[in-house]
Amino acid sequence: MLHGSTIRGTVTLAAVMASTWLAGSIASGTDQLVKIAPAHAGIGGPRNAASCFRALEELGVRYQRVERPGIAIAVRVRGDLGGVTYRGYRKKPLVLDCSLVVSLAVAGRYMAQHGIERATYSSSYQRRKVRGTDRWSKHAFGLALDVHVFAGSAAGQLSVKDDYERGLGDDADCIGQPKTSAGTVLRQLTCQFLGSDLFRMVLTPDTDAAHHNHFHLEAKPWSERTDDPIEAGC
Ligand SMILES: [Zn+2]
Repeated sequence: MLHGSTIRGTVTLAAVMASTWLAGSIASGTDQLVKIAPAHAGIGGPRNAASCFRALEELGVRYQRVERPGIAIAVRVRGDLGGVTYRGYRKKPLVLDCSLVVSLAVAGRYMAQHGIERATYSSSYQRRKVRGTDRWSKHAFGLALDVHVFAGSAAGQLSVKDDYERGLGDDADCIGQPKTSAGTVLRQLTCQFLGSDLFRMVLTPDTDAAHHNHFHLEAKPWSERTDDPIEAGC
């Protein structure tokens, strides 16, 4: 796991490499991976609802403040997040904790570099316990989203169930050697998510059978975050 200082140190390199990826090149080695870097100068001060809303505004997120049981800073997402539009299998509005929305909006810029324009999710906010336990799922707090498919006109359809190649990567080379281009992008996304401070937890088909068909992306509550997804550290 990379630490914030490492990530912030790669901002300039990331910007240069991002343009390479935008040109359509698909990097396969960890060395060439564009690290998820903080977006740009912006917030500061205490981690409260006001600073989280300010972060959303800095990131150009269209949202509406709402109230939901269990969610500390509930927002309804009203547009794309960093260039990626989220669609649920059930046609319900996407309501999440602001902290996760900030993370997805920053991560979306990196997904967009892979040509991803849309993501399909199943579980978002849901008042439920972790299966087989008495513990609340992070979905109950609006802090987790289960993404099954990424898609875009350039990226095509990337299904976690069908295209994710399991058992790849190690500490020295997170990505490993995927055999397909779809598998490569999904591994690159996984490594970018894992290497960022945006998510407390990223569960994939490598985690267990329950995640054979989706990525579980989970953020820390905004009040507990010490990373600064917005402030440029360079
Ligand atoms: Zn989940």
